[in-house]
Formats: sequence, C-alpha cells, structure tokens
Amino acid sequence: MRLLLVEDDPMIGDSIEGGLRAENYAVDWVRDGAGAELALSTQAYDLVLLDLGLPRKQGMDVLRGLRARGLDVPVLIVTARDSTADRVQGLDAGADDYLVKPFDLDELLARIRALLRRRVSRTTSIIRHGRVVLDLASHEASLDGAAVTLSAREFAVLRALLDEPGSVVAKSVLEEKLYGWNAEVESNTIDVYVHHLRKKFGQTFIQTVRGVGYKVAAAE
Ligand code: CA
Repeated sequence: MRLLLVEDDPMIGDSIEGGLRAENYAVDWVRDGAGAELALSTQAYDLVLLDLGLPRKQGMDVLRGLRARGLDVPVLIVTARDSTADRVQGLDAGADDYLVKPFDLDELLARIRALLRRRVSRTTSIIRHGRVVLDLASHEASLDGAAVTLSAREFAVLRALLDEPGSVVAKSVLEEKLYGWNAEVESNTIDVYVHHLRKKFGQTFIQTVRGVGYKVAAAE
C-alpha cells in the first residue's frame, strides 16, 4: 500500500511517517500543496493524508483539484482545524474522513485501514480467500487455520494480490505498492517474495502471467 503524506510540520510529519512505515506502508512525504499536486499527477496512491494549512497551495485547493481531475483516491484530512464548518467543508469537497490534531496514532492507523478496506468493499480487516486468511490489523496470516509467518513485504505482496483476486497485478504495480521514493528496488525482488509465498501457501497458489505480473485465482 502506497500512501501520500502531505504535511508541512516536520515533527508531525516525521511521527506520522514513522508510524506508517512501522506498519509497512510505503510512504511518500511532501511538505506543501504544490508538491502534493506534482506527486498526485505522477504516481498512483492508495490513500492521501492531507493537512489543510500548507505553503504554496492550501490543502482544500489540492483536494478540490484532485477531485476535479477525477481522481478517486481516498483522502483523509489530518488538521488542527476543528470547527464544524471546516469539517463540513472538507467532507463536502471530497474528503473521505477527517481527523483533528492532536490525535492518537492508533486511531489514525485504524481510520486508514477502514478507508482502505472500504475501497475494496470489505467490511472488516480480515481477508478470507479459500484456505487463506489475512488479518490486516494484526498482520497475521494463516493457511487452513494454521499460522503462517510472513515478512512485512511478503504480507504486502499477498495483500495486493488478494485485493484483486482473479486479476493480474503487474509487477510494476506491486513494486510501487511496496516502495516509496527513497527505497532502492532491485529488479527481481517481487519474484523473490512470490517464491517465498509459494513455498508457504503452495506452488499453484500464485500464478505467473508471463511478461505481465502475477495473480491469485478467484476464490471458489
Ligand atoms: Ca500545516
């Protein structure tokens, strides 16, 4: 999952970025509204965390601009502005949720999970796919009820594939979901994670679509 963090306060940004990385999200952090627009025009994100008071373009203008361009990425406003009028304006401008600073990191993480699962029409943090279960809140995986130990990146690859069962997920899309701007991506890393996942869930669980990417068959 790749998130865009738009926050000009270095301390708040640092703490949110650290909290998100600890939960294995790939995070791109921009410090002003113009940077947010540039990032949104060049990269696909699974979710945007948007401050409102920003240099070089207000958060509300960034939000209106991205909705005007037809982007449907979930947007969570994270701001110190706590008036009802601000909340109403933000939600009406196309935000999906609104969190007032100061906030508890656990609450921010829970709201992010809620928005991400809503996007794939899921009502809890549990993904069930045939014999495989993923718990997105606890990061636990199981096969036929037995716990399977996964690294953070193996978990992320599996989750991305299970978000779209039956569809081919391009290798480049998996890489984008796993790595932020600052990370070095080696050319065969996704193959290595898939190799590990096949060892853990069975050789036929993930199918290779040559030259394109990978898929998990739709559940029966
Ligand atoms: Ca600010």
